[in-house]
Amino acid sequence: DGKKSVLMITSNFSAFYKIFESDMDEDDNSYILDNKGNILGSYIKYSKTQHFNNLFDYLSENGNESKLIEDIRKDFLDNSSNVRIISSNGVNKLVSYKPFRSANSNLYLITAIPEEHFLKYENKIMLYATLLCLLSAAVIVGIFAYILVIKRFQRRKAFRLAYFDKETGLYNKNYLEDFCKQIILDQTSNCAAVVMDINHFKVFNHLYGREQGLYMLKVIGDVVKASLLHGEIGSRISDDIFCLILIYDKQSSIVTRMTEMTDKIKRILKANPNLINSRITFACGVFLIQSDETELSSIIDNADIARKEAKFGGKSWIKFFRKSMINQLKSEQAIEDIMEAALKNEEFEVYLQPKIGLLSLRVCGAEALVRWKRPDHGIVSTGVFIPIFERTGFITQLDFYVFEKTCKTLHKWYSEGQIKDIPISVNMSRNHFSQDFFVEVLGLIAARWEIPLNNLEIEVTESAFFEDSDHLVQILNDLKAEGFRLSMDDFGTGYSSLNLLQSIPIDVLKIDKEFLNQSDVSEKSRIIIASIIHMAKSINVEVVCEGVETEEQATFLRRIGCDYAQGYLYAKPMPLEDFRRFVEKVNVDDDKDENKENFRYFFGANI
Ligand code: C2E
Ligand code: CA
Ligand code: CA
Repeated sequence: DGKKSVLMITSNFSAFYKIFESDMDEDDNSYILDNKGNILGSYIKYSKTQHFNNLFDYLSENGNESKLIEDIRKDFLDNSSNVRIISSNGVNKLVSYKPFRSANSNLYLITAIPEEHFLKYENKIMLYATLLCLLSAAVIVGIFAYILVIKRFQRRKAFRLAYFDKETGLYNKNYLEDFCKQIILDQTSNCAAVVMDINHFKVFNHLYGREQGLYMLKVIGDVVKASLLHGEIGSRISDDIFCLILIYDKQSSIVTRMTEMTDKIKRILKANPNLINSRITFACGVFLIQSDETELSSIIDNADIARKEAKFGGKSWIKFFRKSMINQLKSEQAIEDIMEAALKNEEFEVYLQPKIGLLSLRVCGAEALVRWKRPDHGIVSTGVFIPIFERTGFITQLDFYVFEKTCKTLHKWYSEGQIKDIPISVNMSRNHFSQDFFVEVLGLIAARWEIPLNNLEIEVTESAFFEDSDHLVQILNDLKAEGFRLSMDDFGTGYSSLNLLQSIPIDVLKIDKEFLNQSDVSEKSRIIIASIIHMAKSINVEVVCEGVETEEQATFLRRIGCDYAQGYLYAKPMPLEDFRRFVEKVNVDDDKDENKENFRYFFGANI
């Protein structure tokens, strides 16, 4: 009728069905129906199940509700697709029907699958879904557990970083700050804070390298840890400074325990080939914590004040805090505050103390000694400020100042034709030996003022050899090679000098004044002095005896062959211009007795 149509010719439907035949099971059927539910043409049966002619008849025969049947019928007439559950031979089947694409074809493709078949897949899907859920749950639980473990690990790591010292395995200062107060409050027994450090740790570090330094810290950490009792704390609060919180019954038990610890540390360190010959010493300060004292900073400060007293006071390696130490510290601090300005203001003056030839009674040399004249305060004792300057390192500046002032004065005198052949010695603190270019700086200053180096003598105290004698021997050799005269000061107060004399190129030995004092009383000391002088002379070293105050001492020294004497018997340290005049008077080329009497009078006037 003028409409476009498709003509399909097929010998049987099998070919047609094959087109939409999927991989169905035997129980799955597909049919082509018209919109009245009749199977189209001759049908092909693929399954063993019962087939039918009309869908709607079949549905009602199989006891399906009429509402369902009507709904499907309506769908067919409306050309709509749907999926429904029907009953077929007592089996629930899932039917899907869909009109062919052409709207006018009135043909439906209907496929039925037993619900059970579908459920088989559904069960599988449920199983997979359940497994998937379980798996997901396991993964989520795993992730949570992982996060928890990581968090815990990180918390621990953060705790370690925040509160532990990785070099020693002890706590650090933060830990003390955060927990110490509570720990002290919780204690029913007495608590003490002990601040301890290893003397000259920087020198060890410098000499043997960082590795050795770390090793020393670790040994200290191990020993401290092993020695602590329940409720006590061991911590490192800075470089080589440790703070222990100890429980005690008697104060003496703190000393005993610290002695045991330090002895053990020394024993272990001494077993190390590098440290076998080193003098390892400690300084400890103890603060007995009062029950109302929980402010950590003041606890540590007080123990540290006592430690400094032990370290720099020189009398004992362990000290208990006393309130008077604070005043001492304040006056030391006051000196530290003004020392640099004092140097700029030229408050330091150089004095010279003559060295007298014991036979010639002439001035054969002099020692430069510094004097600090504070405006409105008078003279500050060297015993007060030198130790502070040594501790702060300021002594090196002062020594260079004294050295330069001496050179400058000599330059002036030389240009006036005076004091030509009198070597002047200058004290050099051990602090210089760890400084770069020490020898070079001295050489440059001397060159600037055109002073022949053999007229300049460097005094180094014997106790400087206590630690690190190899390094000092090297410096002394450098000084000697540069051309300076060398003198070993305070001989007899140290311990290893006799051995050292072989390896250092010294020109002068200065016997300590304390040594001579003893010789007044002890015959033994006289014998020792006599043998030192004998030994020194046999290796061509000159001997100066310090602190000669009496004629008897001078006579004794002269008798045993000592070359020079320095002491109040002849002259006190005096200002530079006084020294020049002193030499002028004393060193006259005249052997007349009356002149000698004059000198004696002069000497006497200076006592
Ligand atoms: P020192 O190097 O052993 O100096 C000798 C000290 O003995 C001087 O004390 C001197 O005044 C004192 N003295 C001299 N004759 C006698 C005596 O007959 N009897 C007594 N009892 N004492 C006598 P001073 O000047 O107070 O110096 C003390 C120490 O301070 C010096 O000991 C030295 O170690 C140090 N010192 C002084 N000036 C300097 C300096 O410019 N640089 C450095 N690094 N240290 C210095
Ligand atoms: Ca000296
Ligand atoms: Ca001396």
